[in-house]
Amino acid sequence: MGTARREALARRHRRLHHVAHRHLPRQDPLGRGGDRMTVAFIGLGNMGGPMSARLIEAGHRVQGFDVAEPPRRALTEAGGIATTSIPEAIRDADVIILMLPNSDIVEATAEEIMAAVTSNAAPAAIRDAAHASPRDAAEANAGAIHEAGVRDRTGAIVVDMSSSEPLRTRALAAALKARGLTLVDAPVSGGVARARTGKLTIMTGGDSADLDRVEPVLSILGTTTRAGTVGSGHAVKALNNLMSATHLLVTSEAMLAGERFGLDPEVMLAIFNGSSGRSGSTENKWPNFVLPGTFDSGFGLRLMLKDMRIAVDLAAEVGTPDPLGQAAADLWSLAATALAPTADHTEIVNWLRKAPR
Ligand code: NAD
Repeated sequence: MGTARREALARRHRRLHHVAHRHLPRQDPLGRGGDRMTVAFIGLGNMGGPMSARLIEAGHRVQGFDVAEPPRRALTEAGGIATTSIPEAIRDADVIILMLPNSDIVEATAEEIMAAVTSNAAPAAIRDAAHASPRDAAEANAGAIHEAGVRDRTGAIVVDMSSSEPLRTRALAAALKARGLTLVDAPVSGGVARARTGKLTIMTGGDSADLDRVEPVLSILGTTTRAGTVGSGHAVKALNNLMSATHLLVTSEAMLAGERFGLDPEVMLAIFNGSSGRSGSTENKWPNFVLPGTFDSGFGLRLMLKDMRIAVDLAAEVGTPDPLGQAAADLWSLAATALAPTADHTEIVNWLRKAPR
């Protein structure tokens, strides 16, 4: 081997060694073994609030962002760091969690994340990277992004825990991947009560190696079941809520008919819960939010309708029949028009009470 070639190899070795060390995680980035992580949490509402509080209780550093001020204040009170922009929230983050209302907002947020990663990156490194080999370009970009505060292109992983649209999630994952970021989906079921206690059901979609990396964070929030490739969690979540909403509507019809007949609602629920008509609506929603008249489950009626539409669209896209699901979504849509925009989903029964026979 000639001297020039040996020197070139030595230079490359030194550069790679430097890059490798610069990008070494502080310790173990995802907390295996109990290390403290930095979690960016975007969307601190009914669900994101208690979920971020649990991560703080578990000892992680949570940098939260919400467009509204009250949730940011609540995060500070819970011991987190409230930020006023996405670039601030994702700075040095190991994991970026999204808990947002819908796919439109998730996509807009992902755009901001990508823009922050790119525009924060040192322009010279990016410019040099444009003229380098693909491998050198990747190293240069990773270095620039690291210096800008996001750990590096492969280190920061975005976890969409919102109930988003599965096909849009797949497309978004591809767009993020082209920018060196990984997206997995991890929507939840269980509502605000189980968000507080860390007992959510979490359904995940993504490559198993990526899901392994986020499991230590997700396990603080609930129990995960791997549904399949990216977008699968969002698909099964929407299908679950189509079932749940349809159950709640038909349960409410049965309860109103029984009451009018003269049956005691509590007796009816006790019998249903020991019989084949039982569901989350008879076991949880009617006894805890409808009968006491509190209607405070913390899950908005419009968010439920969004999930039903996602499920109905999914059935249309894959070409399966769903006459009942469509009819249920149409009825929930009428309820959404009649009730206040902030109505809890359990208020569907109030709409039903007034519906013409
Ligand atoms: P929410 O409306 O209470 O909270 C959403 C939060 O996102 C709000 O605080 C809002 O200010 C914030 N937000 C909106 N746009 C934003 C933006 N561009 N950047 C940053 N923050 C923004 O809703 P939620 O009930 O917490 O639900 C969040 C997600 O979880 C939804 O996708 C919902 O379908 C799903 N979900 C909710 C429940 C539940 O019981 N509430 C259960 C399971 C799943």
